[in-house]
Amino acid sequence: MEVASALFFIVDPFRWKTELKAQLKRRMLAAEVNIGYSTDLTEHANIKMTKQKTSIPSFRYFIHTFGCQMNENDSERLAGILEGMGAVKAAVLEESTLILINTCAVRQKSEEKLYSLLGRLDRIKRKNGALIGVLGCVAQLYRDNLIEKKPTIDFVMGPDNYGDLPDTLAGISSHDPQSKRVITRFSREWHEIADSLILRESSFSAYVTIMEGCDNFCSYCVVPFTRGREKFRPIRNILAEIQSLAKNNYREVLLLGQNVNSYKDPESGISFVDLLKTVNSVEEIDWIRFITSHPKNFSPEIAQTMAANRKICRQLHLPVQSGSSDILARMKRQYTRDEYLENIAFIKVLMPDIALSADIIVGYPGETEKDHKETLSLLEEVRYTNIFSFRYSPRPRSAAAGEEDSVPLEVKRQRLIEVQALQKDIQLSINRTFIGKNIKTLCTGKSKKDTGRYTGRSEGYQVINFDAGCDVVGQFVQVEITSCGPYSLRGRMVESKDACPH
Ligand code: SF4
Repeated sequence: MEVASALFFIVDPFRWKTELKAQLKRRMLAAEVNIGYSTDLTEHANIKMTKQKTSIPSFRYFIHTFGCQMNENDSERLAGILEGMGAVKAAVLEESTLILINTCAVRQKSEEKLYSLLGRLDRIKRKNGALIGVLGCVAQLYRDNLIEKKPTIDFVMGPDNYGDLPDTLAGISSHDPQSKRVITRFSREWHEIADSLILRESSFSAYVTIMEGCDNFCSYCVVPFTRGREKFRPIRNILAEIQSLAKNNYREVLLLGQNVNSYKDPESGISFVDLLKTVNSVEEIDWIRFITSHPKNFSPEIAQTMAANRKICRQLHLPVQSGSSDILARMKRQYTRDEYLENIAFIKVLMPDIALSADIIVGYPGETEKDHKETLSLLEEVRYTNIFSFRYSPRPRSAAAGEEDSVPLEVKRQRLIEVQALQKDIQLSINRTFIGKNIKTLCTGKSKKDTGRYTGRSEGYQVINFDAGCDVVGQFVQVEITSCGPYSLRGRMVESKDACPH
């Protein structure tokens, strides 16, 4: 029935639109009474998606997500919006009649993966007429050019426009090239999408967006052109979402934004430090994390707040990008190697057990062997528990794209190998120090292959694979670490009445 009606709507888009209009009327009436926040904290919020305007009950959708947690969170919103309209998640890509690709433009490689995926989708579209939407940062960056380059795409939508998804879907047909749409407006205002319209992947750990965009214009980065300038979500909406998560048994929240340290409540001016303290006061939430921090905005007060509020995890992602002050200046990062290391030293005095991570770019234009060695020595000095390391690739519209990409590919490859080999050794030696210890672990899933084996994260965000006598997904458990590799710890759950009552 589902398959037949889906095809019916696709082969007869006119009938689909007529049906939509009728459903729109019914939904609008229903939405008046049952959709929106119930708490007075958000009573006056600028909530864009408070009403479900349209319904597409026969769509089976599939969302492919590239990139960061921000994109993952956006995809959860998109899924929530679609299911609010009556669409259902397709079991496999080939069965979907609506395919959304949430893209990342930060590196050339993700863009290449998008084009290769679109080639595959072309075949699915020819077979079942699926609608294909490209969303996210690549959509924002290339706009109309994307559809010109890949005519298989039916619509292109930038990150600021996801509230327009229902109207967009109502207006397009995969059989009508004239109906293709490009929606890439930017807004300086925060547009709230009600958290009731987020379909979360996890039932115990949640992303909570607190800000979007960036004003920093690091020379290699495309984000200010794809996500726009900084805008901040009102603290009452953030808090309402976290309180609602707490009521629904969520144990961990991850505060998201391109530069969370610069957060300022648009109404009261409350800072990131105050936001952290406020979130720390939500009783049922056990762990609070945040990403991404910018070293120039990471103040001593933030470190002190982390140290004083024990629910804030002893884990910090502080992207350094390079260990050379010369390269940092060319990257327009607005801090030097010494300033970064002073910050790290201060953090470690307050929280000796903190787990640090960072992003590293190798082969930035003009990077010499001496600069590269400084990056290696910084890794040795900081001793991160994890890094994300990449070869530099020029990104459109960024300042560095105008410079000669002067480091040869072979040299970049070699430098990346050296960075990753050193980091692997550091991680292995850090992980070995955990053997024999009991670590508090939030169990995030179970092994597909091995019953009785589970996976989770420590407070420091290390992956812990462990054996347990019962299903503990979503619970905090104690795991005794018995062995490790460079990328994960291994152990067994310390049995307790609470974890396995039977
Ligand atoms: S801080 Fe720099 S690297 Fe980070 S998003 Fe902004 S411009 Fe990009």
